Amino acid sequence: MTGPPGGSPDRVTPERVAELAERLATVRARIADACAAAGRAADSVDLLAVTKTVPAADVAVLLDLGLTEFGENRVQEAGEKVAAVAALRPESGPGADPRWFFVGGVQRNKAKAVVRWADRVDSVDSVRLVDALDSAVRRALDTGQRPDPLPVLLQYSVDGDPARGGVPRADLPALAEHVVACAGLRLDGLMAVAPLTGIHVDEAFADIAEAAAELRSAHPAATVLSAGMSGDLDVAIRHGSTVVRVGTALVGERRLTSR
Ligand SMILES: *Cc1c(COP(=O)(O)O)cnc(C)c1O
Repeated sequence: MTGPPGGSPDRVTPERVAELAERLATVRARIADACAAAGRAADSVDLLAVTKTVPAADVAVLLDLGLTEFGENRVQEAGEKVAAVAALRPESGPGADPRWFFVGGVQRNKAKAVVRWADRVDSVDSVRLVDALDSAVRRALDTGQRPDPLPVLLQYSVDGDPARGGVPRADLPALAEHVVACAGLRLDGLMAVAPLTGIHVDEAFADIAEAAAELRSAHPAATVLSAGMSGDLDVAIRHGSTVVRVGTALVGERRLTSR
């Protein structure tokens, strides 16, 4: 395997490959156990690996281990990593192509960059961002930079804390209507982060499940519920999550600070 300088695969030691394989097996077992406990099919929950601050070479290892869905939360870092991972992968080798999901805050002037590589944007939380993404997608469709409309999730804020992104429950229906009126976008569901404090985890995920059900009753195709991270994925699965976003448990503690 050859790669570009800076994304060199030789930075991945055999010990690191073994560590990633072991962590992945542990996370998969947790998901399977949580599904079994909830009486759900094991394949009813997707594992989205959150790879912010993680080098491209590690992502290539995770791909080789069978993971295909990756989440990033910074536009610049993500764009570079998408290209670096592609450069590390043989053109027509075995293994699936990665799918990239954006889970962080998007400034409107970055919408153009995101829609070039994103398979879905999971953190849509304002009408202005919806409009920016829609016009960026339509331009990308016209110029052949994207083959299809952009799937999005609405980010729900359980505690209404604007600093952490997301919209309160009362604003979800109008935002959903706005998305479905956009030719460049497709409404796939809801994303939420449980609040850090102030509310019991179980109550938080019950509340998130209720918001997702409400959205689905108005928009039956919006079936995705992305909820649960390293610390709480088990509770999230009990409350109907269909995607868990796992960083730390898969790749270890992040060295750089990143939200
Ligand atoms: C970093 C991040 C995660 C992963 O968190 P861990 O606790 O490391 O698993 C999930 N979702 C979002 C939006 C993130 O920014």
